Amino acid sequence: MVGAGLGGLTATLFLARQGISVLGVAKHAGTSPNPRATGQTNRTMEIFRRCGVADEVLRGSEGVASGIVVKVAESLRGRVFHTIVHEEDEVDVGLSPEAFGMAGQDYVEPVLLAAARGHGAEVRFGTELTSVRQDASGVTAELLDRASGEAFRVRADYLVAADGHRSFVRESLGIGRQGRGALSHHVGVVFDADMGDRLAADKGTLFYLQNPEFTGVFMMTNTERRNVFAVEYHPERGESPADFPAERCRELLRVATDEPDLEPDILEITSWEMAAWLSDRFRAGRVFLVGDAAKVTPPTGGLGGNTAVGDGYDIAWKLAAVLRGEAGPGLLDSYEAERRPYARHIIDASFANYVERLAPHLAGPDVPEPVDHLRLIFGYRCRSGAVLIEDDDPAELENPLEPSGRPGFRAPHVTVLHDGAATSTVDLVRDWTLITLNRAVWADAPVEVPELADPTGELAKRYGIGPDGASLIRPDGVIAWRTTQRPTAPAATVTSVLNRVKAHS
Ligand SMILES: Cc1cc2nc3c(=O)[nH]c(=O)nc-3n(C[C@H](O)[C@H](O)[C@H](O)COP(=O)(O)OP(=O)(O)OC[C@H]3O[C@@H](n4cnc5c(N)ncnc54)[C@H](O)[C@@H]3O)c2cc1C
Repeated sequence: MVGAGLGGLTATLFLARQGISVLGVAKHAGTSPNPRATGQTNRTMEIFRRCGVADEVLRGSEGVASGIVVKVAESLRGRVFHTIVHEEDEVDVGLSPEAFGMAGQDYVEPVLLAAARGHGAEVRFGTELTSVRQDASGVTAELLDRASGEAFRVRADYLVAADGHRSFVRESLGIGRQGRGALSHHVGVVFDADMGDRLAADKGTLFYLQNPEFTGVFMMTNTERRNVFAVEYHPERGESPADFPAERCRELLRVATDEPDLEPDILEITSWEMAAWLSDRFRAGRVFLVGDAAKVTPPTGGLGGNTAVGDGYDIAWKLAAVLRGEAGPGLLDSYEAERRPYARHIIDASFANYVERLAPHLAGPDVPEPVDHLRLIFGYRCRSGAVLIEDDDPAELENPLEPSGRPGFRAPHVTVLHDGAATSTVDLVRDWTLITLNRAVWADAPVEVPELADPTGELAKRYGIGPDGASLIRPDGVIAWRTTQRPTAPAATVTSVLNRVKAHS
């Protein structure tokens, strides 16, 4: 595993939990000291539940997890141009048993790291990948211990490249990328200050600021009094990060907060580029690109970190299944087939958000239509050999509030009775699982077949399986196959389906 950010650590943790031997290396000295990707979607929290860290991540959201306020405004108390999420909006619309999280990357990464190490993963910081080669049987990586200067070589079955947007692995393999490229340049300021009643109580606050003096973003973090402020600078006008020393950042912060006497304690000033890139391939042989190495999305929408987690989990469960001999190597083809089109949706939607929130001057016919956040998070349809799609509907997104239950989509969250207790269907899936209302018929299928009752009739409605049919759900909660029929040979039917979707020859 190259990289110990959100993508690499999620994959490392899940592989280690599955008993796979994994070595993680990261060039940096430790995890991200900067809150960067703040906020976990409910879908990310479902993944963290499967990785055993959801409760701890949620603890990092205490005090801010009751909602979020998102506005486009001149300043924190100034004219509001557009409210994206109101104070009173219900953010949790009942699509998941998991709450969303509001923890920063500087909190989440150490949680993932500790859990991964707890499951036996070795993660070495200050260790840089300097060369990668592969042949038919494995991958050879040359590594450099940056402190001692010692070089060493590692041989592995597979390599996951979660090495960030400048991915050395992607460049070494000659994988190109397409897209709008650099959109804007930012100076990011992490600071502590008492914001008093300028922020909504008990809610996350995110302001996109279009001020006559600057364009920027203000975001609070899960650490008390800690906030992040990013302001655009313009290299084409000769500006550079050096033009933003602490005193100028303080002045801009006073304008942004409408507080002329604000005395922010500035902890860090960094610079970064907002960009949109999609790699031409997410895989080369035994090497898989994950997170920012595979795609870079504008952070407008908060999906860069969330999709890094999603990529890491996706390749990890598939690699674990192959390495444990439970699936054929063909299952790995589904990683790029499913995640690359999804990344395109994420980038397009985030770019549309960017134009609306920060760059209205770019508005025009080539800006993609905005996409509803819920569709992006819950309504994407996977298309690959690992799902058996039988309809010819080309749509890649659907409204998850009215799920069709068709293969390729996420298995909807429905509260059912399981062993007499109210349980989410999402929580019933930990491995390959058959959801049916007639367990007696399907009990011999070679997967989990939970006993359940559907007192509200929601399961029948949302899964579309009738009284005797069934849905086969993958370990990642995606519907692999569905039937409304009562089979003559249920176990053989499911075995045959499993062989197809797990690419067992
Ligand atoms: C200012 C800012 C704000 C953001 N806000 C949000 C947000 O609100 N929500 C959101 O979802 N996303 C946000 N993002 C994006 C998010 O931070 C990234 O998408 C996420 O960090 C990507 O994770 P990753 O694991 O792919 O890569 P990274 O976190 O970049 O990690 C890369 C890893 O690779 C290692 N590495 C690199 N090269 C090598 C090498 N040669 N050898 C060994 N190791 C190497 C590094 O040491 C590091 O461990 C933001 C980003 C920025 C910059």
